[in-house]
Amino acid sequence: MNPDERPPLHLRGALKFAPAPESVPVPIAPRYGHFIDGRFVDGDDPFPVIEPGTGQPLTQVASARPDEIDAAVRAARAAFPKWSGLPALERGKYLYRIARRLQDRARAFAVVETRNNGKPIRETRDVDVPLAAQHFFYYAGWADKLNYAVPGRALRPLGVAGQVIPWNFPLLMAAWKIAPALAAGNTVVLKPAETTPLTAMMLAELFQEIDLPPGVVNIVNGAGPVGGHLVAHTGLDKVAFTGSTGVGRNILRTLAGSGRKLTLELGGKGANIVFADAALDQAVEGVINGIFFNQGHVCCAGSRLLLEESIADDFLARLRRRIETLVVGDPLDKNTDIGAINSARQLATVQRYVQRGVDEGAEIWQGAACAIPDRGYFHLPTLLTGVQQSDTVAREEIFGPVLVVLTFRTPDEAVKKANDTEYGLAAGVWSEKTSKLFDVAHALNAGVVWANGYNLFDPASPFGGIRHSGFGREGGVAGLWPYVEVA
Ligand code: NDP
Repeated sequence: MNPDERPPLHLRGALKFAPAPESVPVPIAPRYGHFIDGRFVDGDDPFPVIEPGTGQPLTQVASARPDEIDAAVRAARAAFPKWSGLPALERGKYLYRIARRLQDRARAFAVVETRNNGKPIRETRDVDVPLAAQHFFYYAGWADKLNYAVPGRALRPLGVAGQVIPWNFPLLMAAWKIAPALAAGNTVVLKPAETTPLTAMMLAELFQEIDLPPGVVNIVNGAGPVGGHLVAHTGLDKVAFTGSTGVGRNILRTLAGSGRKLTLELGGKGANIVFADAALDQAVEGVINGIFFNQGHVCCAGSRLLLEESIADDFLARLRRRIETLVVGDPLDKNTDIGAINSARQLATVQRYVQRGVDEGAEIWQGAACAIPDRGYFHLPTLLTGVQQSDTVAREEIFGPVLVVLTFRTPDEAVKKANDTEYGLAAGVWSEKTSKLFDVAHALNAGVVWANGYNLFDPASPFGGIRHSGFGREGGVAGLWPYVEVA
């Protein structure tokens, strides 16, 4: 029987997993406020935080008033002279302590991140939390070496950094932002995303535990307007933002002419190019990882699959077979590959895009090893084939578990199609020929290109985009430049 004609695995009775729920109980407070000048403050106007895996309220979080944002910026300003004046080795020691404490509490952080974000515990346990700790370790190492990075020149911190982060990697994005800022001697006011504030508040507890001086990191919670108020604050010297291209554009307008430094890490529509000479089963794994990791809520997701025409049918059959083994469901279950979509709003966005794709002529295929739960926000892994370059789903960031499939005949056509996007964040290339990998990688307009791999992150390696994907780099020594002035 043609593999495409077989019923899905769950209907064939295969792959029945016994539930393996994460059992560590982690207390979540009924309400969270803000963290200003080393103290937790209650704040006002609480709004509910929903658990995506159940669709039920998890806790409440306050929304910062302008005077509270002011207080946070003033606390960061007051802490700056002492923090930047510390011997760099001492600053590094604080960062080491944060990293070590994060490792000590890794399991609790993983559970809370999974409950708050919806991503599988397997990912928070093995990726988000360890990578966040690695970032603090990595930049701890830089603190006392930074002054030797540019021989003969002195490097100075900028002052107070306002940082706004999204909901897709709440803890990891906080680490990406806070670690280099602190290592270079800056102080910080951070605004987490409205739907995912909890691991940032756990980080605040950890800052208290390791005696980080008050005011060095401040956290204000709330929705978009709180972020808008923060980035426009005249008390900042630097703004760092990760999120959608639309909001990034607004921030660029707000800061134009202000003299404040800005880095933007925005959206993407990454191409994952598979040549006929690639190791196909390995490429299937990379394509799965590229689009279904973190439910596809990844700015650098490989959301456009470009297949060499001669292998397209074979590759798609292998891909479908592999997708049929993916477990979609309870994010706290260790068997789960694909967890919950972060919010009802994002689920509606993904569904809208899929419908738009079908309306524009795409063929839809969905599969998994099981039926999706009847509560919470879930979406089956989805393939859209028969898509044209000009279709909405091939051009706009869907930010969900939806893979758009296109084909090509020559390397030149693959590059042209991959580059035919307003974005420029990431791309992947799969081939057994190293010369082809290099040629194609150099021709791609993307800040990051992975060869025979996808979604590989390392604190020592810079990450960031070009064109509508933003500017500036995070990670590596390049991640420090946006936080220093070379005197
Ligand atoms: P946003 O860009 O709106 O959110 C990112 C962060 O910015 C959040 O903390 C948000 O707060 C805050 N914010 C919102 N409006 C403003 C503003 N005017 N000024 C300053 N900060 C602001 O992304 P969404 O969460 O709304 O997601 C929408 C789409 O954006 C997704 O479907 C996806 O396509 C894309 N996206 C891309 C990301 C990436 O890494 N490239 C990350 C997240 C989203 P709040 O959470 O309260 O809205």
